[in-house]
Amino acid sequence: MFKFSVKSLSKINDKKFHPSLKKLLLEAIKTSPIDFTVLETTRTLEQQKVNVLKGTSKTMKSRHIPSVNKSGLCEAFDIAPYPIDWKNIKRFIQLSEHIKKTAKELNINIQYGGDWKTFKDYPHYELK
Ligand SMILES: [Zn+2]
Repeated sequence: MFKFSVKSLSKINDKKFHPSLKKLLLEAIKTSPIDFTVLETTRTLEQQKVNVLKGTSKTMKSRHIPSVNKSGLCEAFDIAPYPIDWKNIKRFIQLSEHIKKTAKELNINIQYGGDWKTFKDYPHYELK
């Protein structure tokens, strides 16, 4: 069984992070076949501006930004298999299968960025 690092946990415990997604991550790590790390949960508008300029994000309406969502909470997270190997897409997909399965068991509706047709965002998940 894998355990989150202090760094990952501090992102999960962010007050603006949606409780359903928090529940999902805490459950998923327990049964995950691969270790993974939390890259990002809540994002500020300022950070998003930088991301759009860098091209790592395409929209200012990112679900990571609490004020974009009706709930006023961050409704997205980015995770990566650990240790991180950005070129190993297969591992990201493998992890996504576990996350989707866990979400289904918990009755949490999510969308996976790796399933998007135009811009594949392999570390990204958000509430539907
Ligand atoms: Zn994301």
